[in-house]
Amino acid sequence: MTAATNGPVHKNSVANILKNLESSITCPQCSGVYKDPRLSVCLHSFCCKCLEQLWSHHSSKHSFRCPICRTEEIAPVEGQTSRISDSPSDLHLNRILELSKVNKLKEQHGVCDNCKETTTLEVFCFDCDVFLCSACNGAHAQMTVKKKHQERKLEEFQSEDYDTLYKRPIYCEHDRKDLEGIEFYCPVCNVYMCGLCNIVDEEYHATRDIQEVADRSKVEIAEKAAIVRGNVARFEREFKTPRNGWRKSIGASTR
Ligand SMILES: [Zn+2]
Ligand SMILES: [Zn+2]
Ligand SMILES: [Zn+2]
Ligand SMILES: [Zn+2]
Ligand SMILES: [Zn+2]
Ligand SMILES: [Zn+2]
Repeated sequence: MTAATNGPVHKNSVANILKNLESSITCPQCSGVYKDPRLSVCLHSFCCKCLEQLWSHHSSKHSFRCPICRTEEIAPVEGQTSRISDSPSDLHLNRILELSKVNKLKEQHGVCDNCKETTTLEVFCFDCDVFLCSACNGAHAQMTVKKKHQERKLEEFQSEDYDTLYKRPIYCEHDRKDLEGIEFYCPVCNVYMCGLCNIVDEEYHATRDIQEVADRSKVEIAEKAAIVRGNVARFEREFKTPRNGWRKSIGASTR
């Protein structure tokens, strides 16, 4: 069973992402680097705080207007806040932010995922999915003497390491120490989990194999996209020949 590793990314695209890194990680609302990027109703990304602001700007009617595509949405007064914090994280964008983090960490301090100190970070361990300072990396090296972990010094990061970082599995957020890729999805609770959590939580969740869910969603999206493309083509045809087009439309609507 493969974990959910594939983002909306094609071959060589990590190299492209690295080339356009700054523009990719800039929030269109605050012009700063994205913080906790969330997807809006129209699937544009904003910092969680910026998305909140975009909603509350027109607080009298609790409406949202996307500054990019002008999509408007009116929310019920109750539950407006919870809707924003429930907005899905932009996983793809979070991965791009990580690529930029490694780039910056070569010169700046960061937080060690083990001791939580803000210090010079030395490596990223792909097996533990952590950034480590040099002290913690020493301990980590002793712990993993028998079974070597795949780790890379930040200063030696090459394009293929960025690629691996970008495409690594999305791990289950369980409290256990082991890293397990996501394998199941519960559409009722909108939660993702690994195989073991699925067994433990079997009674509470109506989980499905995430690959099957993804495959089915892809088909559904493709079908809907085909309908939209068909509509666009039809409208374009009608508006290019205005007289006939209008007559046809009026004829159709009065029939
Ligand atoms: Zn922002
Ligand atoms: Zn939008
Ligand atoms: Zn540390
Ligand atoms: Zn490790
Ligand atoms: Zn789990
Ligand atoms: Zn559930």
